[in-house]
Amino acid sequence: MLILMDPKAGEGDVQAVCARIESLGFTAHVMPGATSTAIGITGNTHPIEEDRFAGLAGIARCIPVSRGFKLVSKEFRSDLAGRDSRVQVGPDPTCGFGAGMFGVIAGPCSVESREQILASAHAVKAAGARFLRGGAFKPRTSPYAFHGLKEEGLKLLAEAREATGLLIVTEVKDTDTLDMVAAYADVLQVGARNMQNFSLLEAVSRTSRPVLLKRGMAATLAEFLQAAEYIAAGRRDQPWQDSIILCERGIRTFETMTRNTFDINAFPVLRRLTHLPVIADPSHGIGIASDVPAVARAAMAAGADGMIIEVHPDPRNALSDGAQSLTPAGFEALVQQLRRLGEVVDRTIP
Ligand code: PEP
Ligand code: MN
Repeated sequence: MLILMDPKAGEGDVQAVCARIESLGFTAHVMPGATSTAIGITGNTHPIEEDRFAGLAGIARCIPVSRGFKLVSKEFRSDLAGRDSRVQVGPDPTCGFGAGMFGVIAGPCSVESREQILASAHAVKAAGARFLRGGAFKPRTSPYAFHGLKEEGLKLLAEAREATGLLIVTEVKDTDTLDMVAAYADVLQVGARNMQNFSLLEAVSRTSRPVLLKRGMAATLAEFLQAAEYIAAGRRDQPWQDSIILCERGIRTFETMTRNTFDINAFPVLRRLTHLPVIADPSHGIGIASDVPAVARAAMAAGADGMIIEVHPDPRNALSDGAQSLTPAGFEALVQQLRRLGEVVDRTIP
């Protein structure tokens, strides 16, 4: 349930409502807005009857929220007055996603060597990216495939950050390696295969890092939002409102011409349901390098708040996902197109 307070309600009225919520054994989330305060309630397993709040002053309206996600829902950020959250990473306010800011993350699928990651970092920075991606712990379908350089890969990412100022986005594969990955990463990526790894979601929620949560390849949008809710719910004492980024990366369908089917519907639907920023991964979404720019442009036009794109200095010899990786020149051309398109669809690439 969400309680909307009257614009004339005072601090004491808000306190009294919170005390009632806590006395019922639930948790109150106070969200002061420009004109009035909203109070969200979590922790209830059944709908709460409105008469539980009878006799309390200053309540304008009680809105039932019966979905499995609340903190990430649009209603729970009535303080934003219809705007969306912006996830800022680090101290620079132009490094972020959402509310008009279009964040660009680029780099190779995997960190392969010092030369490869440094060349990638310099190239994507020159083209306009603010974030460097690169997996050090790679969840791969085959046990015989390249699984990443592990901590050595994380150290190379840190070196690339030092050399370029780019912020690091890298995947955390399991709870065992979470502390290590969190020590190097600026943003923790939870991959499609782990979207419903609830132990990992809970563990990630207890770190102080922003999280990039990818949609599972067979997950509905409702399941996706509930996975994000796990992270928000675990972040009670942290600014959960602005530390989770959703990522549409394509889902499995009967189509075999492409690696996945990029779900463009996700953008308008998620935009309606959640205040969280939603970014696009057109690389995994279609899986074919020459087709990535078309999907990227479509995603921006459909409302994406940013993009994560695989770029490799030598795609043909990449140890993972070379077929979908852009060259640095291809990436630069795409960023130029997105800057032009952003002017039309109200997205700024800083
Ligand atoms: C990746 O980003 O390289 C990756 C493994 O993505 P996903 O989890 O979306 O498959
Ligand atoms: Mn990849």
